[in-house]
Amino acid sequence: MSKTDLKGLSQNELEDLVRRMDEPRFRSAQIFSWIYGKRVDSFDEMTNLSKEFRERLAKSATIGQLALQASETSGKDSSTKYLFKLQDGLAVESVLMPEDGHATLCVSTQVGCAIDCKFCATGKMGLQRNLSAGEILDQVLRAEELSGQPVRNLVFMGMGEPFHNYDNLLKACEILTDESGPNLSSRKLVISTSGILPKILQYADEGHKYRLAISLNATTDEQRTALMPLNKKWPIAEVIRAVKYYTEKSNQRVTFEYVLLNSVNDSVDDARRLRKLVEGLRCKINLIPYNPAVGPYSRSPNERIQAFYEQLAGLKVPVMIRWSKGDDIAAGCGQLAVAEKGR
Ligand code: SAH
Ligand code: SF4
Repeated sequence: MSKTDLKGLSQNELEDLVRRMDEPRFRSAQIFSWIYGKRVDSFDEMTNLSKEFRERLAKSATIGQLALQASETSGKDSSTKYLFKLQDGLAVESVLMPEDGHATLCVSTQVGCAIDCKFCATGKMGLQRNLSAGEILDQVLRAEELSGQPVRNLVFMGMGEPFHNYDNLLKACEILTDESGPNLSSRKLVISTSGILPKILQYADEGHKYRLAISLNATTDEQRTALMPLNKKWPIAEVIRAVKYYTEKSNQRVTFEYVLLNSVNDSVDDARRLRKLVEGLRCKINLIPYNPAVGPYSRSPNERIQAFYEQLAGLKVPVMIRWSKGDDIAAGCGQLAVAEKGR
């Protein structure tokens, strides 16, 4: 029988497990605090549990940990890319971006991605599998341990479409924001989705506090479908309607992400259409200059980026140009991909 991985179990699930093992309920809080507070990786270290209970735990459970396979630090901006190996030999990447004594971590939610955006290296891999909640959140624990820096901001913008792995994503968020665990602030977690419509609506209905970002990337359905095939199923107008529903329900703003691809979606007309699309919405806009990845695309020259940006001036929403960190080590947005299975 395979052992249960305790990393990735919510407080409730741990309580169930402890109850099934005929131990008092408070044991689950003790275990939770050993795993996420003191960050131990063996039952032997849990010294406030009886030896007998620790032995029973060791027989039926494990505390999983991602294995570091490689890491690389940018010479330009000191961001670090970690390659973590999973139990089954597959691997994922996370990117740590340090700033003034703390850090932002870009986390993966899947090995590969099924959405197949034509400009994205992860999309090119296809979907291999979803990460478990433990595998998602351990990227944070491992990055903190390896770098010695506390992660304060978390962006689900690594490999994968977070809303295609909805339950594990939200369980990882729940544990990461637990006060007796890693205790990250909900508002410092950003989930980025390519626009899985039913999940945006469900997310809005469930009232989660984590922030939401939407990858818009184009201003006409023809353009967006060519870049992101899921647009055939959920076209721009529907995405905007869903965003409106979310912002009204949550009273939160969304962030629209817009990758600037030279002469594809970066014209002055595109900027004008983008203006129209977002007018009146509670949002902000992040323009992301393209990082070379796959396909026939290139980064817009600075003059085009500037001209696009200027067309958005005067909008009541904040507009930022987001230069990716770590593009010299292929750690920028859309550059994450792991070549082959395992070693
Ligand atoms: N799958 C999710 C989150 C990961 S991608 C999503 O698509 O939203 C994070 C952001 O990087 C998305 O906005 C995506 O459009 C953008 N992106 C993908 N490939 C890129 C590239 N090569 N250069 C710059 N941004 C890219
Ligand atoms: Fe998947 Fe996001 Fe890449 Fe599109 S941009 S293929 S949704 S990871």
